Amino acid sequence: MAAYVELCIALVNDLAIEIRQGRRVHHDAGLGEAFAELAENVLMRRHDLSDADVDDLASVARRLHIAIDACLAGDLLTASFALNTVLAEHGAVPNLHMAPGEGPHLSFHSADATIVDAWAAESATALAFLVGTRQTHRLGQCSAESCDAYYLDSTKNASRRFCSLACQNRAKSSAYRQKLRDRAG
Ligand SMILES: [Zn+2]
Repeated sequence: MAAYVELCIALVNDLAIEIRQGRRVHHDAGLGEAFAELAENVLMRRHDLSDADVDDLASVARRLHIAIDACLAGDLLTASFALNTVLAEHGAVPNLHMAPGEGPHLSFHSADATIVDAWAAESATALAFLVGTRQTHRLGQCSAESCDAYYLDSTKNASRRFCSLACQNRAKSSAYRQKLRDRAG
């Protein structure tokens, strides 16, 4: 399930937020730029997306974004409403996929679903699982300046604060500069 939560977060970080790691996100800059995080995701490999697919995924991502924000605000009702809509509209259904030579694999869309429906269903199901099992505290938003990116905290003591190493380093050097200024003042 964690892989699907990561997919959900990658969609939101790539397609729904405005500012990330100190830079404005340009959603119209083309696939390569818009999909920086998704491109790293194992579930993304092997897929070619059309412009229409990207538009549809962006619309899914905006609703997942509402759901994640509601989770962080502790508003599980709003999160549930947003997720139920995505689940229904994209035909989410538990299904055991049979890959040749491998055992059955639990998925949340029919075997012939489009890639947009498949990712929408998997993302919304994974988030719904966190909501339904009261694990939304594992979701976080980057604490670095000028970054709205989300992450899944898989540390045991819930100590994660940044979306990436890049933001962790940015925050560290900005704290260091602040310390120097305080000393000088
Ligand atoms: Zn960040």
